[in-house]
Amino acid sequence: MSTYDVAIIGSGPGGYVAAIRCAQLGMKTAIIEKYDTLGGTCLNVGCIPSKALLDSSHHYHDAISHFEEHGIEIAGDIKANLKKMIDRKQSVVDTNTSGIKYLMDKNKITVYHGLGSFKDATHITIKKSDGKSESIEAKNTIIATGSKPSTLPFIKLDKKRVITSTEALSLKEVPKHLIVIGGGVIGLELGQVYRRLGAEVSVIEYMDRIIPTMDASLSKELQKVLKKQGIKFYTKHKVTAVKAGAKEVTITADDKKGNPVEFKGDYCLVSVGRRPYTEGLNLDKAGVKVNDRGQIDVNDHLQTNVSNIYAIGDVIKGAMLAHKAEEEGVFVAEVLAGQKPHIDYNLIPGVVYTWPEVAAVGKTEEQLKEAGVDYKSGQFAMRALGRSRASGDIDGFVKILADAKTDEVLGVHMCGARVADLISEAVVAMEFRASAEDIARISHAHPTYAEAVKEAALDATDKRALHS
Ligand code: FAD
Ligand code: NAD
Repeated sequence: MSTYDVAIIGSGPGGYVAAIRCAQLGMKTAIIEKYDTLGGTCLNVGCIPSKALLDSSHHYHDAISHFEEHGIEIAGDIKANLKKMIDRKQSVVDTNTSGIKYLMDKNKITVYHGLGSFKDATHITIKKSDGKSESIEAKNTIIATGSKPSTLPFIKLDKKRVITSTEALSLKEVPKHLIVIGGGVIGLELGQVYRRLGAEVSVIEYMDRIIPTMDASLSKELQKVLKKQGIKFYTKHKVTAVKAGAKEVTITADDKKGNPVEFKGDYCLVSVGRRPYTEGLNLDKAGVKVNDRGQIDVNDHLQTNVSNIYAIGDVIKGAMLAHKAEEEGVFVAEVLAGQKPHIDYNLIPGVVYTWPEVAAVGKTEEQLKEAGVDYKSGQFAMRALGRSRASGDIDGFVKILADAKTDEVLGVHMCGARVADLISEAVVAMEFRASAEDIARISHAHPTYAEAVKEAALDATDKRALHS
């Protein structure tokens, strides 16, 4: 039987990054993945394929809606070829997943393909697709088994008409009417993809606003812009039934006043969150406990109740984000090596890759109000930037929240072109506990979208934005 210093179950961004860091720190490392490709949800059916389709559909949308204003005339029809887009998406995925295989080989990490399950706290059985099994011994194990789409108790996901994000990333036709249940990240990103390709898109959201965990100003701005792009929103609607026929779906919901309303479409995307995935792990054989939300319980060292077993990523508490899982992978590897790493969960940024993009870090205004923090706010509209006017991307703003007395930046909230990249400046500033004035005094290249960050900081400092 092969023995390892550390075995990692699951090869998503949590697992494969943990494996690399363990190997870098000199540990004999194995990684176990039940699917044939490495990379987990993120690379196979999550971050990467969704961004590939967002990019392709964005190009198409620009071609049919914005090229003319830029003086580009196209003779003849512009057509979107969905099959080609999906094929391209798949080749992007394949390049990325084979990149992870290369990284495993480079770092001398042993890869096992098969379902990993505990025999006891130090032995794992790997059931391969050909029915054979193999067991390994591991001094320490990191569980990184991720998450799966959740649904509502009364919804049957037939994966043909009533689908999850996984099927939505590989549709064979553009829906005529896509009904999205859940106005969170997945619903809006994939809703926008199909809206751009010509689908009618209706988003039914239970809460009173879309992306309800983000700052309310971002919900408002994004909903306004997406509405202009033709997406229909039904907030404060409670879905009560979903019925699928061969070619049609009917969704019933209670509207804001409690009256029943009916939606008919050809596809229904259920995007109401994801649930931690622990099936098949045989956690009880190792004695590992889960909480009432199905998450593996961990302490501040990401250690489970069994001292040599750790857990990271979507399968534990916290934001279900690839970069959060990666930080935790590095964290556990360094804990195992006897180091004292640290993660500031308040500074894990969140991004929605619609266009305009939405990005945020730190506290929202709602959280600061609830905590009774005395704060001030500075805001700058993207439309006032030369860069935005040059590109035509004028929607959105940057908002900086800072402590009223100390001026320390407490939260940064952005909507606009390329804010997914701009948010890094805010994360760096907050990691170094910058004040709004610190950001305001830094030179920002002109013309860039980043100037909105400086201007919002000037506004937060003492209402002295230069260009508004
Ligand atoms: P996962 O990536 O889920 O990987 C877990 C792996 O474990 C899987 O490969 C699974 O097959 C394997 N596994 C499970 N059980 C076993 C077992 N018993 N034995 C062997 N292997 C097992 N996050 C972002 O930060 N940015 C984005 O843009 C983004 N976009 C997304 C878009 C979509 C459509 C979706 C669905 C998610 C998106 N996410 C995004 C979320 C992101 O994908 C997850 O947060 C991230 O993948 C979690 O990483 P993980 O390593 O914890 O688990
Ligand atoms: P989410 O939590 O972002 O959004 C779910 C939405 O569904 C929420 O707005 C919620 O209020 C709503 N909802 C819940 N129950 C409902 C009901 N009964 N009826 C109507 N609406 C209901 O979840 P998601 O969009 O499914 O994404 C899952 C996870 O994947 C998220 O945690 C997210 O972090 C991650 N993800 C991240 C990205 C990114 O970083 N860009 C992209 C996609 C997914």
